[in-house]
Amino acid sequence: MRLPVKLALLLAATTAFPLLLATAFTLPQGREALRSQLDQIYAQDARALAAEVRRTLVDKLDALTLAASTLRLGELDPEAREQALLLIYRETRGADVVGLFDSKGDALGETIHFDKLEGELASEHEPVDAPGLTAYAAKVPLQGALQAGLAIGPVYVLPDATGKPIPRLVLAVAIDGGHRTRWVLGVEISLRRLAESFERFRPGESGAAFLLDGEGKVIVHTERELVLKQASMKDHPLVKGVQSDEWLGANATVPLLGWKAVVQEPADEALRPLRHLQRQSFMWLALGLLVAVLLGVTSVRTVTAPIKKLREAALAVTGGALETAVDVKSHDELGELANAFNTMTRGLREREGLKLTLSLSETLELPEVLERLLDSLGRAVKFDEAAVLIKTRDGMDVIVSRGPRGKDEARQVIPSSAHVDKAIATRQPALNDGRQMMALPLTQRGIVIGVVCLECKGPYSESDTRLAFSLTQPAAMAVENARLFDEVQRLATLDGLTNTYNRRHFMEMARLSWESARRFGQPLSAVMLDVDHFKTVNDRYGHAVGDQVLRALADRCRSALRSIDILGRYGGEEFAILLPGTKKHIGAMVLAERIRTRVADDPVQTDAGPVSVTVSVGVAGMDNLTHDPGDLFKRADMALYAAKQAGRNRVVEDQLEALPQKPVA
Ligand code: GH3
Ligand code: MG
Ligand code: MG
Repeated sequence: MRLPVKLALLLAATTAFPLLLATAFTLPQGREALRSQLDQIYAQDARALAAEVRRTLVDKLDALTLAASTLRLGELDPEAREQALLLIYRETRGADVVGLFDSKGDALGETIHFDKLEGELASEHEPVDAPGLTAYAAKVPLQGALQAGLAIGPVYVLPDATGKPIPRLVLAVAIDGGHRTRWVLGVEISLRRLAESFERFRPGESGAAFLLDGEGKVIVHTERELVLKQASMKDHPLVKGVQSDEWLGANATVPLLGWKAVVQEPADEALRPLRHLQRQSFMWLALGLLVAVLLGVTSVRTVTAPIKKLREAALAVTGGALETAVDVKSHDELGELANAFNTMTRGLREREGLKLTLSLSETLELPEVLERLLDSLGRAVKFDEAAVLIKTRDGMDVIVSRGPRGKDEARQVIPSSAHVDKAIATRQPALNDGRQMMALPLTQRGIVIGVVCLECKGPYSESDTRLAFSLTQPAAMAVENARLFDEVQRLATLDGLTNTYNRRHFMEMARLSWESARRFGQPLSAVMLDVDHFKTVNDRYGHAVGDQVLRALADRCRSALRSIDILGRYGGEEFAILLPGTKKHIGAMVLAERIRTRVADDPVQTDAGPVSVTVSVGVAGMDNLTHDPGDLFKRADMALYAAKQAGRNRVVEDQLEALPQKPVA
């Protein structure tokens, strides 16, 4: 796992843990508090309903007892009794049937009931038809009333005209029938009002209240079927007083009757506020977590971003990009680390530079120095072609080159490139438009002494350029040393005007050739050449034009020579040529004649116009009369003198006859 992910997770977990803990503690507590509050409310409601049931029935029973005792039914004649029963029917609100029975249960006179009701009676009583009357007769608690004085019969259910099941029961009161007889007054009571009262009672949106008798059978319920069947609900958890997940609620027993009023509400709905609260807490928790993660990521980034930079920089340095520097501006430990890193890479750069300088300083050969510089650059920066231009007396010249393009082609292309000009002008590295060519100026004491040109297929980046430039700078000193050494050497061996060997060096080389020729028995010839009446040229055209003539003369000599031939300036306007492996006759003579005619036939182009000159030439060859190079040139000089004497513009051969050659031991 990457460091930022690890740290972000850790931080988020640290922040989220207390939140989770708090939620885990407070949510169940809230749930318990709400439940106990609800339980109290349900118990109160159930008690209130039970009290209402009790009141309703007791009130009716009271009214009935009062009426029975006041009306003295036993003393009335049948007609008056009927009137009294009618009165009871009217006065006992909810009465459906009023009947009077003797102790055997036989009806005394007509029962009061109506199978149709109108006017104000309709809202107070239920109409009773024949089956209703039969049901009533069967439910009169005759014995109970006779024994206890009053009794409440079992509940039974009959539908009304609309089919709605109406629970009913018979209240029975024992009265004095006169002549020591006991009668029972039985009044059927409709529990319609009570049922309506239960129906109206709605805890929550889908809660309900219901009423069961002492055996657990339904008296009042919102579900008609249950009422009609008088279904048993004694196993309902709320009836048993057991906690359930489905229902919340409570029951209360109706005093005296043993009935139970039950209030119920689906747990789902009752606890909805809690769920709302839960949802809200989860939402806040999620939000908290999100913020925690964001905070975590942000804080982690402040730490890991600099570390990432450092890591990339370290990888870059490992890959050789020593110019890499980490840009961390903070003033904390990470900033210090970045500074330390930068100091380290600076040290590495300096060490690399020093190494390069030392390796370059080991040699004073300019091409060797430049080759080493390219080797060293090649290890840090890619290139397919390379060339190094060095400032010479005649301008920038390609000294070394690499790649498919030869030195000559590079010579033609590179110095005229715009980016090279720019690098020289600005003394800063420059790239061409396509960024595939790089020019790195080599400066010494503020002067551009050369340009390193690199070329590759892909474009160079800014950091490639910086790195390459940082590597070339330590090389400038070594290049300059080698360049100066070259120049000093050149000055020591060459004649400044004609670029031919000076006399001292020429004689040194002549001695080497002499030794070699002697050892291997090879022929060796010398040619001496002097301009005729050169004084006159100087006098007529001036010294500068004279110089031009001398340079041209040297060029013409050089162009006639092979690479092994040696040309030197012997004196003011006098040149000497050594021809290894060439016999005086005919080789050296032919060559001398060729030079003479080239000079004589073609006037030299000078600032003063064409100047015609001629040369006199003396030729001598090595034989057993010449003991050293000095002898050889002396004899060539004598031949030259002879040529002058003979009228100039001619080639004269040394006339001394050599002895037959002795083999060298
Ligand atoms: P000749 O050899 O035919 O007898 O006649 P000359 O005029 O060439 O004879 P001389 O040797 O007396 O003159 C040589 C002249 O060359 C004298 C000198 O001024 C001139 N000279 C020598 N070195 C240089 C040089 O480097 N540049 C120029 N312009 N003139 C030079
Ligand atoms: Mg001369
Ligand atoms: Mg001379």
